[in-house]
Amino acid sequence: MIEDYSRDLVRAVLQEVLEALRRDIRAERLTGEALSRQLDALEPVLESKLRSRLQSSLRQAINATGVIIHTNVGRAPLSPQAAQAMVDAATGYSNLEYDFALGRRGHRDAHLEPVLCRLLGCQAATVANNNAAALLLILNTLALGRKVLVSRGELVEIGGSFRIPAIMERSGAVLKEVGTTNKTKLADYREAVDDQTALILRVHPSNYRIVGFTHRPQLEELTALAAEKKIPLVEDEGSGHLFPSSHSFLEEEPSVQTTLATGVDLVCFSGDKLLGGPQAGVIVGRKDLVDAVRSNPLMRACRVDKVRYAALAWTLACYETGRQEDHVPVHQMLSATADQIESRARRLACLIDPRTFRVLIRPGASLIGGGAAPEREIPTSLLAVTSAIYSVNEMERRLRQQELPILTRIEDEQLILDLRTVFPPQEEIIASAFSGMAAGH
Ligand SMILES: *Cc1c(COP(=O)(O)O)cnc(C)c1O
Repeated sequence: MIEDYSRDLVRAVLQEVLEALRRDIRAERLTGEALSRQLDALEPVLESKLRSRLQSSLRQAINATGVIIHTNVGRAPLSPQAAQAMVDAATGYSNLEYDFALGRRGHRDAHLEPVLCRLLGCQAATVANNNAAALLLILNTLALGRKVLVSRGELVEIGGSFRIPAIMERSGAVLKEVGTTNKTKLADYREAVDDQTALILRVHPSNYRIVGFTHRPQLEELTALAAEKKIPLVEDEGSGHLFPSSHSFLEEEPSVQTTLATGVDLVCFSGDKLLGGPQAGVIVGRKDLVDAVRSNPLMRACRVDKVRYAALAWTLACYETGRQEDHVPVHQMLSATADQIESRARRLACLIDPRTFRVLIRPGASLIGGGAAPEREIPTSLLAVTSAIYSVNEMERRLRQQELPILTRIEDEQLILDLRTVFPPQEEIIASAFSGMAAGH
């Protein structure tokens, strides 16, 4: 063990194990027999603790929830080719910031800016660590100490700690709320503009909808107002929906291209939501504004490493060649039909022991998740499992605590699995987890 793990680590872990044992002895939690069993097992226990020390606590899981861009389990999964591009960039040197043709220093944006401009029809592009960083950079660059107009209906919180007013404050910009929660009119923006106004910010209501007695100005009206007042209009688009898309449920979702074509000056969006790439915050639009963001000293603190440039470049190349539905997992999952998922569900159902489990195949809905088209449900086919031996909660827990955790959902007293978000080779692993439960472990 000392050879494999180093003397210091072995000693430290052994001391931990012994200390735990002493605590149990002092507290009289161990009978003499239990103690000698524990002492006999000291070596394997030590070995397994050492092994787990060297493993990352971050590990793969199977997402059978049907939520495609599931924030808690890592959002967009990448294709093997995108992952290979990351490996290639990670394991060697590259032209990240070097122009080999000219033999002089280059810029890392050179690897993404041309493809983004071709795809989106914009003048310039740069990339930050994530969309929160992109927005922070934009506000800090263009509105430090000055006012930013935002509709009260768009003061969004995107899960956890991302809140527009908080980001605004830390960026050094001054939030100027306009309109009301349900109704903001063009006139509200117009009246709020003064000589302290740096920009107008539109935020995509990613994860909610305001319905009923509502109003939001048309994008055309806002771009006209921004042009007239000579202040930039910035849109936090969030999900990175690129056009064209054959998914009918995304029809009403604004695309980055149409937003830019309508005259928005700067758009930012995430790389790992609907785009289906690695974590990133893409900033696209007018060249003078992108250049200003790029030369902000904070850019250095928010920039993206070579590994993610590689994966993002590969993902964007899929879009440019129209192959995203063949190669980008998020789009493969979005485009699977309910029939295709049903036949996979039926195949899996046949592998589950009918003496322990009752499995029904029934229609249901998958969710896009990740703050894109929140109320949009995609028709799917579900496995609904019940058991005379295990409660639904017990099944959910046991699957979640597998060596390779399987995440499911519970609905109407049934355990629900949606294979839309499961990769086909994982079906066998799910089947054997059910077999293990049927065998009583
Ligand atoms: C998701 C989202 C963000 C945050 O993006 P990250 O990439 O998670 O930093 C910001 N704004 C909107 C509108 C979003 O949907």
